[in-house]
Amino acid sequence: MSGEVNADFDRLKIRYLVEGELVCDSLLHIGAAEATSSTLDNPVIRVKVDGRDVPYIPGSSLKGSLRAEAERIARGSGLSVCLPPVKVCEKEACVVCRLFGSKSLAAHVRISDALPLEENVSTLVKPGVAIDRVLGSVFPGHLYNVEAVSRGTRFKFRMVIENIDLEGNSEEAKLLKAILKELVDGNIQIGGKKSTGMGAVRLENMTIKKISVNDLLSGGKGVEVKVLEGA
Ligand SMILES: [Zn+2]
Repeated sequence: MSGEVNADFDRLKIRYLVEGELVCDSLLHIGAAEATSSTLDNPVIRVKVDGRDVPYIPGSSLKGSLRAEAERIARGSGLSVCLPPVKVCEKEACVVCRLFGSKSLAAHVRISDALPLEENVSTLVKPGVAIDRVLGSVFPGHLYNVEAVSRGTRFKFRMVIENIDLEGNSEEAKLLKAILKELVDGNIQIGGKKSTGMGAVRLENMTIKKISVNDLLSGGKGVEVKVLEGA
């Protein structure tokens, strides 16, 4: 049964839409690639919304964290999982690649950029200690600043899952439900500076809608399903 949904990317059978609010349980730092005009050493990444630069969580960043958690859970349950570039999936894709995609395999899971739900997102600047990248040791007296989104900030979460029967018991479905549960329980950290306790997020008010091809053709909105216990 799980085999039958693996290969058909050319045919949409079923889609699930997972939505909710990602709440920061701690400070959150997702760094901007280049420190543009900011005077900060480590500003958070921002995107233009209605002419304003607002902090956000890139979908790719969320996907990376969820993928890493999926790998841990899959390995913990005894499944063989690749570890690029050391060990890559070849003929048979591992369950994590089947969900999140690989160089040669499209993903079954898409995660949108998460924009803040409130208009004004507060950030604060925390002093950090500079680490010598080569020696891994602390530079005494070398302080730098890290900007972080404040605790309690809420972002809009949106994930689309295609051609995996979430209500079924395939390896993919079980792993996806386990990750969603981890997110709901607040057990996943995202972004940078995780070792200093930053990046704890929790998914609140989660809804999962099942959307069939018929719904798409007839303009139906799909039906809400409960696939996680207690969520
Ligand atoms: Zn793999």
